[in-house]
Amino acid sequence: MKVIIAGGGIGGLTAALCLQKFGHDVTVLEQADAFSEVGAGIQISPNGMKVFRALELEKAVVQAGFLPESIEMRMGHSGRRVFQLPLRDYALKQWGAPYIHSHRADLLDVLKNAVLAQSNISVRMGEAVIGFQSDVNWIDAVLERGERLKADLLVGADGIHSVVRDQLLGPEAPAFTGNVAWRAVVPTDALGENAPPPTACIWVGPGRHAVTYRLRGGTLCNFVGVVEQKDWTNESWTERGSAERALADFSDFHPVVQTLIKKSDAMYRWALFDREPLPTWTGPRVALLGDAAHPMLPFLAQGAVQSIEDAWVLAEALSQEGPLSQQLETYQTARRARTAKIQAGARANMTLFHRRLWLTQVGTYGPMWLAAKVAPRWVQGRNAYIFKHDVTAESA
Ligand code: FAD
Repeated sequence: MKVIIAGGGIGGLTAALCLQKFGHDVTVLEQADAFSEVGAGIQISPNGMKVFRALELEKAVVQAGFLPESIEMRMGHSGRRVFQLPLRDYALKQWGAPYIHSHRADLLDVLKNAVLAQSNISVRMGEAVIGFQSDVNWIDAVLERGERLKADLLVGADGIHSVVRDQLLGPEAPAFTGNVAWRAVVPTDALGENAPPPTACIWVGPGRHAVTYRLRGGTLCNFVGVVEQKDWTNESWTERGSAERALADFSDFHPVVQTLIKKSDAMYRWALFDREPLPTWTGPRVALLGDAAHPMLPFLAQGAVQSIEDAWVLAEALSQEGPLSQQLETYQTARRARTAKIQAGARANMTLFHRRLWLTQVGTYGPMWLAAKVAPRWVQGRNAYIFKHDVTAESA
């Protein structure tokens, strides 16, 4: 099959690799002139790493990243620990693959190098897709420069503001979730004794939370600070912000969080959008994947990982017997319920992380503390449905 992928982000590049592995010819069209990712970290959980393993990229992703010792939650102000659960060995043993923290640029490099090494993937940079036209036997991707490219299938991996989604389902802007995220990466050396622990650490507070973790063998530290904010007045959904404003948002947080902010050279601010689960992800010779299909809040760290799962399942479905419409139905059926559940879970974590009143904090974090003490496996098991999942085994 000849497949065109609109979008060369984590989802699009992983889809290109999965599709070529199953024997398809792929063209990736990326609107930017060079592959690039924001200067920020990303967590790749075992369910995503299993796809990278099947693509023989696990080692490269692990080598470029950092293996967190544990996952922990702390009170944002005092730094007092709510719970700490093992992650490094636990992930391998219980969920079957490592849990990785990576700089986005490092992950994208691994994917880009793998894509460029494949003769049946061609990549065209600086090519924005503005729409498509499909017929019974083919689909044309319409490029901004006026060209039309023919294929058997067009995959919309063009992110949350997907043009392919707009044409398939009608234009509808994603919903502002009332959350804004600050993001920065700082060299660990610059942080001294206030360097965050080598864990995946969530710092909870009223109407806000921070996440800290290490990257690139531990030499870099990642900061994400999420703050509830009623409106987003800027037209752009991402902008360069100032450390002073981020510091004001986290003025009552622990010195570890504050030092990360103070030492950052570049602080970015993102409006967080999501969507209700879409009624359909596919149309005649079109399929959506990643944020184009299921944008979600990052509070389960699954947006990119779900795009990685999508990529494998789509490639596998296209290799089954039967007409394309049936293959696309197989893909959609395998993915929609799972991603909708994770979208809802990410939303639920917002209220969990942002408890405002002392009483609700005690009522939430007290039982969590106790549960992690008396039944750590039960607590850890609550996300096993996400992390244990192996889309590559299903198709084996
Ligand atoms: P994108 O990354 O948006 O890529 C889309 C690509 O398509 C881009 O390269 C774009 O230039 C290109 N494009 C767009 N339009 C066109 C067009 N018309 N024609 C051609 N090309 C086009 N997820 C995780 O799994 N783990 C995490 O730890 C995590 N943390 C996060 C933290 C924050 C603060 C945020 C905001 C998100 C986080 N996510 C995380 C979510 C994750 O970043 C996204 O889900 C993921 O990047 C989506 O990948 P994608 O390839 O679908 O889309």
